[in-house]
This record gives sequence, structure tokens and C-alpha cells, in this order.
Amino acid sequence: MITQGQVLKIHSDFYYVNFENNVIECKLREVLKKQQKKVVVGDFVEIEDEKIQNILPRNNYIPRPAVSNIDQMIIVSAVKEPVLDFIQLNRYICFSKYYKIPVKLCFNKNDLSFDDEIIEKVFSIYEPLGYDIIFTSAIEDDNIDELAKMLKGKTSALCGNSGVGKSSLVNAINPDLNLRTQNVSDKTERGTHTTRHCEILKVSDDIRIVDTPGFSNLRFDFMLPSEISGLFVELDKFKGLCKYSDCLHIHEDGCAVLNNIENIDETRYESYLSFVEEAKEYKERIKYYGKKEETYSKEYNNKSIAKISVRKRQESRKLSKQKLEKEDIKDETIY
Ligand code: GDP
Ligand code: ZN
Repeated sequence: MITQGQVLKIHSDFYYVNFENNVIECKLREVLKKQQKKVVVGDFVEIEDEKIQNILPRNNYIPRPAVSNIDQMIIVSAVKEPVLDFIQLNRYICFSKYYKIPVKLCFNKNDLSFDDEIIEKVFSIYEPLGYDIIFTSAIEDDNIDELAKMLKGKTSALCGNSGVGKSSLVNAINPDLNLRTQNVSDKTERGTHTTRHCEILKVSDDIRIVDTPGFSNLRFDFMLPSEISGLFVELDKFKGLCKYSDCLHIHEDGCAVLNNIENIDETRYESYLSFVEEAKEYKERIKYYGKKEETYSKEYNNKSIAKISVRKRQESRKLSKQKLEKEDIKDETIY
């Protein structure tokens, strides 16, 4: 009989597939191996006789660490200790948007906030953008029920900087899990040796959490500067309204974003500018590889080519993109 289930964990050649609240240990069918189809955590698969027969189409996929079909990203920040870093928060929001994963925002350690200033600021920035917001305290068990409701019936990934209380929140929902929590200084000493594997934990029958050491490569140096505004909902709505089609909304004439800058939050715009700077690194590298490609073909054909055609240019750009993807660009992980 063929059944369908979700891969929760992979350990060497064994795949642990969730099926009607049981976990079945499976192997991969030979033909999938031959086709070099890679099953990742989160994949919905068809199984027969404890063998994975087929991978169902993915809703989304994050390459490092490899995980698919995340229903929602819960971005966790602390209102204090560590200090709320809005640029980092916006980075996670954009990262999730890039990977087409819906976002919810959780602000933890609310027991430490003695005034409402931070709460007001958070609401004034993120509520108009349409994000669900929750304030919690894992220590004082504040709003943990609400958080559990948010997670119900879904596979969620919790992301956020080290020490904001992600493990503590999961433990608060289900103390039996007893995830390891550490204070902030211990964590930074942990370094980058932690394994990159992730698995899906069943926190309760209908709450699944992606347990990951962190997502790598959160810098936007893999996309073009012009693509960044698409990751900011409030900037994206001005798409096509600027005088120049390649407007980066920085200092250009007739820029619809700049004309409306008073309606855009400062920290959001500042984050936008930082990510554009990162994306410029990518553009530089593309240029570099593109040029290399040109010189190479000149030498290879042993005749001088004054210009390469637009089509060829695009091809070489594609090639360089592939090269960049293969290259293990900075393994910057934020825990
Ligand atoms: P993670 O790195 O995001 O998984 O953070 P942890 O769950 O390991 O928590 C880091 C530190 O923050 C630990 O010392 C926790 O006890 C503490 N912590 C977690 N949640 C809260 C909270 O709601 N309030 C306070 N005051 N401390 C918390
Ligand atoms: Zn513009």
C-alpha cells in the first residue's frame, strides 16, 4: 500500500517519515538514488514497503540547512537582552519572503520591558505591514497559549538571533521536550562547529517545529540590488511608479519611494539600504565573471571578438550565477 507522509529527520541512509502520528523508518528506492533526487527534511513523500518511492512537489525550500515545506516562519526577537535589532529582524523578514514563507513576529522576554515604548514602536512599524505580532515571556509563561495557538496545525520554523529565547519558548509549550537553553555568552562561544542538520520536532500532536542550528547565508549577496525592494512590502507597492525603471530608490530623480519617504519607517529604509549594499557585491562578482567569460572565449577561439552578443552575455551571466551557487559562499550562520 502506498502512503504519504512528511520526512521529519534524516540520519545517514535512514529517513524518518511521519505517518498518522507514527514515525516510520524508511530507505530510499534505488531509482530515486539513480535519478539523484535528494530527499530533504520537510519533504512530503510517498512510501511503500518502508521505501520512499516519490517526492511530492515542494511549497518552498531553503537550501542551507536543507529543509522544505515550512508553513510559517516565527521570527523571534527579545525586547531586551539582547537589544532589539531591527535591521536583523528585517533581514529575517526579507529572507522568509525570498523563500516564500509566511511570517509571524514574536517578541519574547516581555517580562523585562518596563515601559510600553518598545511595544508601541513594534506595533507602529509592523502592524501596518500586515504581520501578526505576539509578545511573550517564556520565563513567566506569558502568552504561551497564544503562541501555541499560532503554531497549531502547522510546521513552523523559529528563527532569530542567539539568546532571544527560541528554545525556552518551545520548552514552555512542551516542558517534556527539554531543549537545551543557554545563556547568551555560552552560545557565542559555541562557534560554528555545530552540525548543519535540522529535524522537525513534534512539540505536540499538531505542533511541529523545525529544529535547526540556524539558517546560513543570510546576507543578500546572492541577488541583484534591483530585486531587494521586492522583499519590502511597503516599497514593492511603488513598483513601476518611479521615473527610471532601474531606480534603486536611493537618490534618483522622480523616485516614487523617495517622494513618499515620510510614510516609510526609518529602520525599514535603513535595512533596505544595507541589503542593497550587500546585493551590490553580487553584481560586482557577476561583472567580474562575465568579463572573465569574455576573455576566455576570445582566447579559446583564438580570434578577436569585439563584443559578445546579448544572448551570449545572458548565458555567461547564467553560467556565473551557477558558479556562484556552487561556490560555498560565506557560511555565516546566526544562531
Ligand atoms: P535561543 O538561543 O534563542 O534558543 O535562546 P534560549 O532559549 O537558549 O534562551 C537564552 C537565555 O534567555 C536563557 O538564559 C533563558 O533563560 C533566557 N530567556 C529565555 N526566555 C526568556 C524570557 O521570556 N524572559 C527572560 N527574562 N529570559 C528569558
Ligand atoms: Zn525609486
